[in-house]
Amino acid sequence: MGHMELAELKSKIRDIKDFPTEGILFKDITTLLKDGPAFRYVVDRLAGRYQMEGVEVVVGIESRGFIFGGALAHQLNAGFVPVRKLGKLPAKTVEVEYELEYGRDALAIHEDAIKPGQRVLAVDDLLATGGTMSATLRLIEQLGGHVVGVAFMIELAFLGGRAKLQKYPLHALITYE
Ligand code: AMP
Repeated sequence: MGHMELAELKSKIRDIKDFPTEGILFKDITTLLKDGPAFRYVVDRLAGRYQMEGVEVVVGIESRGFIFGGALAHQLNAGFVPVRKLGKLPAKTVEVEYELEYGRDALAIHEDAIKPGQRVLAVDDLLATGGTMSATLRLIEQLGGHVVGVAFMIELAFLGGRAKLQKYPLHALITYE
């Protein structure tokens, strides 16, 4: 397909008030994903940015990061590695705890998923406070991965997540100020 305006892309993201809890404005991307040309456009735009970076492994974060991560890995001729909630990965893992708005959570990656020195692109659908991605980057670096990029479809800039990820080249396709 040809050119698509970012405004047109934005119009395909559905806002859901008070989900999953009161006060949260949830960005529902299923309305964008079900639109073939829109989904392809997002993946093409993100992939284009990393075409020359020699990405060997794309790491996607459960679960919406899997959707973009898989497509990006395919397009970049790279492998795909999942980062999942605790207890979901079957083989030996390394784990990291991180702060949530209320309480703590933990993420895991297979200990043999990334070889030391491999060039890694980390992907999620949306950057909010940055806690999830920051924990994921710790896992990648614990395995010796070299983070060449951190990519999101959406950035909620007013939450300031970018500040937590300052040492990494970060890119988001769509920003909400
Ligand atoms: P954070 O760790 O705060 O950056 O949160 C990022 C994770 O939570 C991502 O995996 C998002 O999918 C999800 N998330 C956080 N806030 C929202 C929101 N307002 N709408 C949709 N997803 C969100």
